[in-house]
Amino acid sequence: MNKPKGKNKHGLSRYIRANVKETIRKDAGFGCVFCGCVLVEYEHIEPEFHNALEHDSERMTILCPMCHDKVTKKILSKNQVWSAKENPKGLEQGYVNDMLFSKSDGLEFLLGNMGTQNMGIAITLYGKPLFWFEESGDEESPYTICCIFYGLDGSPIAYINRNEYIALVRNLDIVSVGTSLKISDKKNGCILEISREGGEPLHIKKLYTQLYDTKLVIKDENSPVLFGNINTSEESLGGIGSLTLVGQGLESKAVALGGVPSREIGNKLTVAINAILYGSQIVNESGRSKGWIHNGNLINFNGELVGLVRGGDAYSITDEFVSHFKEGRLMYPHDQYDDGEPIFVKSSSRNGWAARSLAGFDLSHRFFGLE
Ligand SMILES: [Zn+2]
Repeated sequence: MNKPKGKNKHGLSRYIRANVKETIRKDAGFGCVFCGCVLVEYEHIEPEFHNALEHDSERMTILCPMCHDKVTKKILSKNQVWSAKENPKGLEQGYVNDMLFSKSDGLEFLLGNMGTQNMGIAITLYGKPLFWFEESGDEESPYTICCIFYGLDGSPIAYINRNEYIALVRNLDIVSVGTSLKISDKKNGCILEISREGGEPLHIKKLYTQLYDTKLVIKDENSPVLFGNINTSEESLGGIGSLTLVGQGLESKAVALGGVPSREIGNKLTVAINAILYGSQIVNESGRSKGWIHNGNLINFNGELVGLVRGGDAYSITDEFVSHFKEGRLMYPHDQYDDGEPIFVKSSSRNGWAARSLAGFDLSHRFFGLE
């Protein structure tokens, strides 16, 4: 993660501000302007990105990876993109894209054979949300999907960042037929299959993801959510399923596995006492105490080491960059990392973003759990 930002010759970075994206999404009816697919990429029509001076919503649109590929190969012309932008599929009268969650439908979805309702976060591994649904600031906009996929070697292979598809390796296949969407990786096979049929809840029929030493697998639509050590064969994985989880709201965890990654250093009690005596407190954005920093170590309330601070940045114990550490807070200025990885942001944090003195999103949940 956090590869250097790709900038064009004018110094324009690939990072597009959330409000610009929102305008583009809304104008396009929240889907690919050609086919209505919800999984999209942001396209600079003309000028193309390498010549662009700014991210201008008037000169940009959203295309699904399949249609985008046709534009790149000139099977679809720029003129056709302009006219599709004028009359996007998603706004076509009577065209309903069933993959979109309107804000009124209670976020009911199925993970394999497990039902969930009102759960913003579907999957969290080691305190890191890997699959969640996010509300946008705009009242009319539907919820968006965020998903982080790691390959078998433990490095990220693709992200879905608020419905934007970001491929980090180019050997992924995407197939979108009707209301079904499938992403396959040559090594892992199908890593995601989502579908939604006439009035039914959105169904995550297949999923493969992993983080650190834990993998999580949904084999098919009747499968429980299976998880275990990455070296465990699929037949031997443990699972949960055939139950319905009903959440308290968007900040509930539907499936939280492994909790916060931590390792005990020395005697828990001694560490905790040292942290209390000599460390300083970490607080979240509302000023609530979350744990301590002592000798560059992030210590939770159980006296466990959950992360490290070096040179003003905070890392997980597996050395993954998580956030900046400033004035006793674990903050990151954007809702995504430089390589496009989406960052889970609590809706309360999202709403107050502009008003706060310390601009940034609170990432203390990555070390100390969500609450
Ligand atoms: Zn398309």
